[in-house]
Amino acid sequence: MKIIRSRYVPFGHFSAINLLGVLFVHPGVYLSQELLNHERIHTRQMLELAIVPFYIAYVLEWLVRLPMRGNAYRNISFEREAYAHEREADYLARRRPYAWLRTEKDKPRKLKP
Ligand SMILES: [Zn+2]
Repeated sequence: MKIIRSRYVPFGHFSAINLLGVLFVHPGVYLSQELLNHERIHTRQMLELAIVPFYIAYVLEWLVRLPMRGNAYRNISFEREAYAHEREADYLARRRPYAWLRTEKDKPRKLKP
């Protein structure tokens, strides 16, 4: 993954943004394995949707979620997958295509004893 340190990108309080598979990071931001894995998951999602539709779907879902309960950004399907698996170093090797479509409700539940 190509990494570019920039004071100006991303804007606002975000520390990093993945644009077309290139990671823009503010100076001084620590590039943890979790952060890199998170962004690699986004790159895989982008490729699944041929890049431009990924960004359109991302923004549309964020807009739809803005008036809903909870943090709209964290509840975007792409972010939910990336945050849920950013600590799993081998995740991309075993990830199913379009895994971001799977919601929490779809995941198998553990049976209570
Ligand atoms: Zn993310």
